[in-house]
Amino acid sequence: MVFSFRAIFAFTKRFPGRYQWIPVRNCNLVSCTQNINTAKQQECQNPVTVSSGTRQSPIDINTAHCVYNPQLKPLKISYDPNNCLRLRNNGYFFQVDFEDSKDSSVISSGPLKNHYRLKQFHFHWGSKSDRGSEHTVNNQVYPAELHLVHWNPVKCNNSDEAILSEDGLAVIGVFLKLGKRHDRLQKLVDALPAVKHKDAAIEFLNFDPACMIPSCSDYWTYPGSLTSPPQTECVTWVIMKDPIEISPEQLATFRSLFYTSTGEKQKNMVDNYRPVQPLLKRTVYSTTSPFQNSVSQ
Ligand SMILES: [Zn+2]
Repeated sequence: MVFSFRAIFAFTKRFPGRYQWIPVRNCNLVSCTQNINTAKQQECQNPVTVSSGTRQSPIDINTAHCVYNPQLKPLKISYDPNNCLRLRNNGYFFQVDFEDSKDSSVISSGPLKNHYRLKQFHFHWGSKSDRGSEHTVNNQVYPAELHLVHWNPVKCNNSDEAILSEDGLAVIGVFLKLGKRHDRLQKLVDALPAVKHKDAAIEFLNFDPACMIPSCSDYWTYPGSLTSPPQTECVTWVIMKDPIEISPEQLATFRSLFYTSTGEKQKNMVDNYRPVQPLLKRTVYSTTSPFQNSVSQ
């Protein structure tokens, strides 16, 4: 994503004391929602900011403690496949970027007060199938998790600004479990060998990310953060309750990518997830009551 370190510096200046400069993991683990370019890679050699805040992500969703909110509407999702631009390996995961200068691929309703524009999507996954998702449900881990990242054009001028706003981003999380082949995802899987190494990028057009949204509209929602530095607390998370399926072969292709650049000693791109963070005083709201038997958890 296009969150520059300039924006991160601005943020720490704006909220001194709220976020600390401390050493964290190496920056081949760059953010869930960060863009990579040479300048940023150089920045990444230095300590980067990490939050000591109170609404960090991901979390374990304990379904017994979720609060049913009958006011929650289904999320409205309207994506234009023509907004799909490129596929790239940013050294942490592969990411598909979208044109976001207009309100042509947006989500609204659900827990959101404004509409949000799609900026990019990416996945997190494990080296083995007993790990990989960032969020967990009753401590159950999935082999992978999709994040569709959107920013708020009503309150912010661009996605860099959005990470400075407590309601700047809305991220849809979708769990992936192993099962049958996801036919519409195969176009993306087929393109992955072209971006095996860090910083590789190719044109990737006409892909509809709505094909990765489960048919069941039930979700959990809570206020959280980016899951990698700068870990700013700007995200309304919408975690779909039903997982989607991909085949073992499709997930194996994810694992065949590299964190490393061409010519460097190869390091497989796996286990690119952040561990769960404490819920603290937050409430996770649910579209279904615990007594409804409409979800898989
Ligand atoms: Zn992510």
